[in-house]
Order: sequence, then C-alpha cells, then structure tokens
Amino acid sequence: MNRELLEEKLAELPLYVYHFLTPQELDFTDRVRWICQNECPMYNKSWACPPAVGTVNYCKAKCRMYENCLLISSIQEVRDIADIEETLSTRPEHEALTNQVGDILRELGVEPYILSTESCTVCERCAWLDGKPCRYPEKMHPCVESHGINILPVIEELGLTFQYGENVVTWFSLLFY
Ligand code: SF4
Repeated sequence: MNRELLEEKLAELPLYVYHFLTPQELDFTDRVRWICQNECPMYNKSWACPPAVGTVNYCKAKCRMYENCLLISSIQEVRDIADIEETLSTRPEHEALTNQVGDILRELGVEPYILSTESCTVCERCAWLDGKPCRYPEKMHPCVESHGINILPVIEELGLTFQYGENVVTWFSLLFY
C-alpha cells in the first residue's frame, strides 16, 4: 500500500490529525470492558457493542491480525458541550469522514477493519435484539472502546487531548489494515 498516496489523500480531508501506529501499541484491557458492561446503556443492545463483538482477548487478536493501524481524529465546536444532543449531532460528520478514509484505503488496495465512535445507529432497531444477523456488516463500525481499547495512553503519547477547548468535541477512529 502506497503510504505517500494515502497521506496525500488524507491531507485533503478535514481531519484534525492522523497518525500511523501498530496494533501492538494499543492497550486492550478488561477495565474498559467493565465500563461498557456497567455504565453504558448500549451494552448487549447492538452487534457493534459487547458482548456481540466478542471477548476483549478475541477483539485484541482480531486487531492484531493487521500490520498497521491508522488513527484519525476530527474536532467540532459546539455551543455547549454539556448538551449531549448537540454534542452527538457532530458525530455523523466524523462517521462520514471515517467512511471516506475507509474508501481511500480500499482504493489503495486494502480492506480496513474499522472501529469508530459510539454504538451503531444504522438501523432503527438493531437485529441483535431479535437474535438476527447484522443487516449491514459493511456499514457497521464497533466503537473503539467496545474492543477494550484504552485510547488515552496513545493520545497522550501523541500530545493530543480529548479536550481542545471548553466547547470542542473530539472524535477518534481506528482503521486497521
Ligand atoms: S447495521 Fe443495523 S443490525 Fe447491524 S449493528 Fe448496526 S444497527 Fe445493528
């Protein structure tokens, strides 16, 4: 895969930052899974979330099958970051960007495994709730945390932050290839 070409194309997108790393640099931990299980209302409600995505060990092995990982981040300013509705309304733009990056990787000849933000919202009611297979596996991206990934150490090492300003929303995605 031609990284130079990839970087040329990434530079055309409104990404705040992108960074290449290896899956081995990511911290997979059951502590993150504990938070999903105990604090997230989406636990056991979607194919994009635990337990449907598999154990943390399974997710770790899956991600580590790939040689490379591309981290992308976008930021958006909102009037009031405490307004969850307004904050979440910035998510589709980041998801669209993530899909664009996925398409670029495909154009360059690799099929990425994509982890993005929050739970999947493609269908009104997730097929998981009815014991049926995911309707759009090609569109569905589990969130980074669903795989037990603690993204904080990587972000800190890169000198990045979750909070660029009082009312700035920061989104991250990981594309393994
Ligand atoms: S695409 Fe539909 S069925 Fe698949 S995870 Fe998303 S909401 Fe569920």
